[in-house]
Order: sequence, then structure tokens, then C-alpha cells
Amino acid sequence: MDPLNRSHSIFGIVPPHILEAIVRSGEPKEREWALRALAADTTIRSSRMSLHLMKALTRVTPVPAIAPHKQRNVYTANNTTTLPGTLVRSEGQGPTSDVSVNEAYDGLGATFDLYWNIFQRNSIDDAGMNLPATVHYDQKYDNAFWDGSQMVFGDGDGIYFNRFTIAVDVIGHELTHGVTAHEANLAYHDQPGALNESVSDVFGSLVKQYVHSPQQTASQADWLIGAGLFTAKVQGVALRSMKAPGTAYNDRVLGKDPQPAHMNNYVNTTADNGGVHINSGIPNHAFYLAAVALGGHAWEKAGAIWYATICDSRLSANAQFLDFANLTAENAAKLFGAAEQQAVINAWQQVGINIVPIPLKIFGNWTLHFSWGPTNNYSSVNLMFNSNGTFSGGANGKWSQQDGTILLSFDSGPAKYAGTVDGNIGTGAMSTFSGLEGCWYLSKQGTVGVLPELGAVSQPKIIDVNGNVVSGELELTGVGTKGTRVVKRAG
Ligand SMILES: [Zn+2]
Repeated sequence: MDPLNRSHSIFGIVPPHILEAIVRSGEPKEREWALRALAADTTIRSSRMSLHLMKALTRVTPVPAIAPHKQRNVYTANNTTTLPGTLVRSEGQGPTSDVSVNEAYDGLGATFDLYWNIFQRNSIDDAGMNLPATVHYDQKYDNAFWDGSQMVFGDGDGIYFNRFTIAVDVIGHELTHGVTAHEANLAYHDQPGALNESVSDVFGSLVKQYVHSPQQTASQADWLIGAGLFTAKVQGVALRSMKAPGTAYNDRVLGKDPQPAHMNNYVNTTADNGGVHINSGIPNHAFYLAAVALGGHAWEKAGAIWYATICDSRLSANAQFLDFANLTAENAAKLFGAAEQQAVINAWQQVGINIVPIPLKIFGNWTLHFSWGPTNNYSSVNLMFNSNGTFSGGANGKWSQQDGTILLSFDSGPAKYAGTVDGNIGTGAMSTFSGLEGCWYLSKQGTVGVLPELGAVSQPKIIDVNGNVVSGELELTGVGTKGTRVVKRAG
């Protein structure tokens, strides 16, 4: 299916199924507002597409700034649909009398601070881009969204929804769509789209836990997305729950939270771009389980693992849940270790995503040392072993490993390597190096200088003609009738 032909908001916080429920069951006036929100989403979507195309055509590589560049500009649309509208508060200026303006300013700041202080990311593009936001968009507008270059907040209809600046995780969610667009650029449909939504919920929730006073640990957080958005009229606490997907609301008009928490309940649908706001419950819950298992503040371990994954060049735009899960397990091992990797594997397993850990003894960064030729030339090269069977870094090539045996070949040059790897060291022989014989060893980076440990060579058991085990210097004199070697003591 062509995602360009789908007709709902790409990055709005309120999923279309909620707005559609209001259209179906709300009062006439409420239905009109909901219809307007749905229609506006479509229009915004079209203009966003052309903006994206324009950006793609004029794309230049951003130069990351050395110092963090925090520049918030909050505008008001004065209840029109003109963007960005009138500038009302920019970086460093004090609060205004407009609570929406101040909440937007603070929420943008909280999101910037989490990304900079914890992940050293300099704004959405990691190059210090300004953070513009417009409040009071349209009239009674039931959504908030990131349009590819700025944040936009509606005031809500006042019947079902409060103002959309009220929930800081909504701001973190929307800005994270910008981060994802600059990194993995996950396609906005089906599983990659649900991952895109989930990543926004994950970092939105982290922003909320990070600015909470005092900061919350994974087990203290409520893991609700958009708490406070619903008015008292709605039977529900939030838009979504990462801790218990499917339980956030159950309302006469809005219907019931449709999020699954397990692959057994994955929703196959063409609505909502293939259920991107629905099936996101599955990776959301996996993150929650990992964060609680890893303990402490969720950004310290689980957040760092997820952040490394969205920035991982191996995460493709069409990644499925399992692809994403595999990379989180690998990044957990790289960043922290085996126990953390197991916690991540367990979390995914509990939502029905079964990671089969590849025994990649040599994944990661190694140095290949080699010597060759009659004059004992020596050289070394740093290599990063990727899980797809390639290596890169100082040279490119392919590798394969079966248990302790490894084969390496370079994309250029005739050298082939075969040998064994165990722990932090590998060793073996080269078939050719520029036509010359050679030998090599691999050392895990950080352990350069470690010498290969020679295993103890077990002595063959030697039995004399009388069947007794003997030791000492022995001289082979013949073969006995039962295959035993006949020996006598030397000298
Ligand atoms: Zn979203």
C-alpha cells in the first residue's frame, strides 16, 4: 500500500480512531469539530509532503554545533490556521500570561534538555536547529502535531480534550518524530510505523519522568501518554498506557483503548496507516518491561539502548518489530553487557517477539594484526564486525563464524584468513597476502597487547607392556597387541 494515499494525520498525537469515534457518537457540534480535525490533518499532511520533498531536494549535511544550541520560539496562531503566526515568547524571555505559551516553552525546553543532557543530542537534528511551536491553532482543534519543521498545538474542544500543551510527554512525543525523521526515518505504516509511534511514546515518557520533581525511576513512573488531555467527561486516564496497553480509556463516546500488549493480539487493519497508534502498544510494553527490569531511571539504561538503536545505521526505514528488537539486544550488550542484553531479550519475549541471539563472539570492534613475507612485515587494521556478515572500518570485507572458527576475506586484495577465535583473541594463518605467506591474530579493542593464552597440551597416556601407565622420557619400541604402544624407559 502506498502510504502517500492514506488519509490521516501523520504525526498527530490523537489517533484517528478517537476522532472518528467522536464523529460516530458525539453531539452534532462535537462531530463537526472532530471532522474538522480529521480534515485539517489531511491538508497539513499534503503540505508536509511537499515540504519533505523540497527538503529532500535541497538537503545538505548539517554540521553539528559544538555547544548546545537551545532556541525556543513560541508563536500564537490566534485561533486561525496560519503558521507559524505571531511570535509571543522566544528563548530567554520570561513567562507570559498565556498558560499555553508557557507550557509549550517549558515542554520544548524539557525535551531539549533530556536529549542534550542524557544523549548529547543537540536539538532535533543534532545540529542545533531552532525549536518553533505554535499554540492556539484553529478553533477547538483536537490535536497536536509536528509538521516536519515545527510543533503545533490545538486548544482542544473543551468537551473531551483540554489544551494540548498540558501534557509534557505529548511535546516530547511530537519532537521525537523529528528526531526519528533525522535518524532511522522509520516508514509511517504497519510495523515500522508502529515502531515510529512507539519511539515517540518512549522518549515522550522519558521527558516526563526526567522533568518530574523529583525525577522518577522506571518503577515510580505511571507510563501514561497524554495524562491530563482528557476532560473529566471522559472515562479514561490518558491516550495510551505503556505499562498496561489497552487500559488507558473506556468511554461511551471515545470507545475503548484498542492497544495490544502482545503479538498474539496484533491488530491487522488498513486504518490508521496499518494501526500505527494501535500496535505501538507492543513495542511500548517491551520498553516498559525492559526499563523496569534494568532499574533506576529509565533513560540510564533502557533509554540509552533505545536511543543507540534509533541512531544505529543498520536500522532500516522498513524495520519490523523483530529487526528493531534484535538491534536493541545487540546494543544492550555493546553498551552494558550480557545481563542487560538478557533483560532486553526477556522484555521482548514477554510481548511475543522472540530474539534468537546470534552467538556473535566477534561482533564489535577488533584490531587485526598481521605479519607476512620473508622480512616479517607487520601491520594492523581496526575492523568493526557487523551482524550482517560484513566488516568495515579500516578495511571492508566479509566474515563468517561457526562456533570458534572464523573466515575473513577482504573486498580488495587476495588475502584470506582462517582461524579460531575465543574470548578476546583470535589467531590463525593467512592463505596469501600479496602472494606471500603470513599469520595473524585478532584482539578485541581495549585488550590490545593481550597475548594468546596457550592451552595446556594434554600428554598422551603411555602404557608399558605390562599395562602400567608410565611417565618420563620414553622410547617407542613397537605396537602391542591391543594397540597400546610398547615402550621402555629411555636410558
Ligand atoms: Zn505520533
